[in-house]
Amino acid sequence: MSQVEVSRMKTLVPLATLIGRELRNEKVEKPFVKYGQAALAKKGEDYFLIKLDCQWVPGNLSTSFSVFAIFDGHNGISAAIFAKENLLANVLSAVPQGINRDEWLQALPRALVAGFVKTDIEFQQKGETSGTTVTFVVIDGWTITVASVGDSRCILDTQGGVVSLLTVDHRLEENAEERERVTASGGEVGRLNVFGGNEVGPLRCWPGGLCLSRSIGDTDVGEFIVPVPHVKQVKLSNAGGRLIIASDGIWDALSSDMAAKSCRGLPAELAAKLVVKEALRSRGLKDDTTCLVVDIIPCDHPVLPPTPRKKQNMFSSLVFGKKYQNSLNKSTSKRSAVGVVEELFEEGSAMLAERLGKDFPLNSNSGLVRCAVCQVDQPPGDGITVNSGPFFSLASKPWEGPFLCTNCRKKKDAMEGKRRAEAQ
Ligand SMILES: [Zn+2]
Repeated sequence: MSQVEVSRMKTLVPLATLIGRELRNEKVEKPFVKYGQAALAKKGEDYFLIKLDCQWVPGNLSTSFSVFAIFDGHNGISAAIFAKENLLANVLSAVPQGINRDEWLQALPRALVAGFVKTDIEFQQKGETSGTTVTFVVIDGWTITVASVGDSRCILDTQGGVVSLLTVDHRLEENAEERERVTASGGEVGRLNVFGGNEVGPLRCWPGGLCLSRSIGDTDVGEFIVPVPHVKQVKLSNAGGRLIIASDGIWDALSSDMAAKSCRGLPAELAAKLVVKEALRSRGLKDDTTCLVVDIIPCDHPVLPPTPRKKQNMFSSLVFGKKYQNSLNKSTSKRSAVGVVEELFEEGSAMLAERLGKDFPLNSNSGLVRCAVCQVDQPPGDGITVNSGPFFSLASKPWEGPFLCTNCRKKKDAMEGKRRAEAQ
C-alpha cells in the first residue's frame, strides 16, 4: 500500500460530508478498485480474468479501466480458455477510434456485443465442441458495464444495503423469453428422457442437451444457443459499492442477498473466501465454484462501512434512478442520494440488428466498409448494397443493421434460424 493510500485511510471522510458533496455535485476523483478472489475446483472448468491496467487508447493512461471476468466452461475447457485469452482484445477492436470518454462509455455496449460474437465465430472455426459462460465486467471510474451469456451472475451491493442483479440467467428452465426465442429459431426445448419415458432434470435445448440458452462455443448444439450478451451499464453514486461475480457453484447454493450479507463490511480478499465457504457449507462441493469480489471505493473513504445504514426497499425498480436525458436541474437527480445507482443502459435482445446500430462506416479514402462484428474491411458488393438500402435474404425480413461481412452475416442468419427456413 502506498504512503498516500495509508494516509488517506487515516482520514476517513464522514458519510454526511460525502452526501454534502454529492448534493453540491462536486467533482470527485476516480475511485479505488480493490478486489479478492477465491475458488474451489470440482471439474476444473472455471476460469477467471483480472486485468487492472487496460487502456481503450493504448499508451494513454487517462483512458484506463479494469476488467473482471468469469468463464465457466462445460464439455471441456478450451472455450473458457479461448474466451479468456481473446475476448478483451476483440471487444477493444470494435471500439471506434478518436472518441472521448463519454463516447467510449456509450460505444462500449455495442463493442461488447461485437466482441462476444467475434470470439464465438473464431472459436467455432477451431472445430472444438466445448462451451463457456462469460460474465465480463468493465469498470471505468464509477461506471460499471456488465456483459454476460450463461448463468454466472454479477450482483451489486450498494452502501444502502440494497442488492441488485446486473446479469440475467440464460437458463432455459428459468427464462421463458429465451425458451420462446430458441423454439422460434428452430431448437427444441425439453427434458431428458430416461429409460421408461420419464422426464428428468432441467429443461434443455436439443440437439445437444444444453441447459443454457446463450454461451460462447458449443459448436455442436445448434446456432440458436447464441453468444449475444445481455449488457447492463450503471453508474454508482460517489459512495461506491461492491460487486460479487461468481459461477453457478455459488448461485446454486446462495441467493444474491445471502452472498452479499455473508461478507458485508469485510475487505474484498476475505469476502471472496467467505462467500465460497458459505456456499460450500450450505451445499457441499457439487460444482466448480469461483468468486470475485470487487470494491469500488471513494479515494478518501477507502473502507466500506460494516453495516448498511438502514433497510431499504428491495425492488430494483426503486433502487435504480432512471437517467433523465434532458434534466438540467442536477440537484433533483436521483443520483444525489448516496447509495442510489443510475441506470445508463440495459439491453438483452439476441437480434444483432437491434444491438449493433445502423451505422455504415464507409471509408471514403479506401472505399472499404468495415464489418460491425469482426472489424474486417471489405469492398462493398457481394450482393450487399451499402446505404442504398438494406440487403435481402429469401426467407428473412430486410436486414436493418450495419454492414456485416459474408462470414458474420452467415452467423447472424444461423443464430436467427433463417438458413433453416430457406432450406425448407
Ligand atoms: Zn465480419
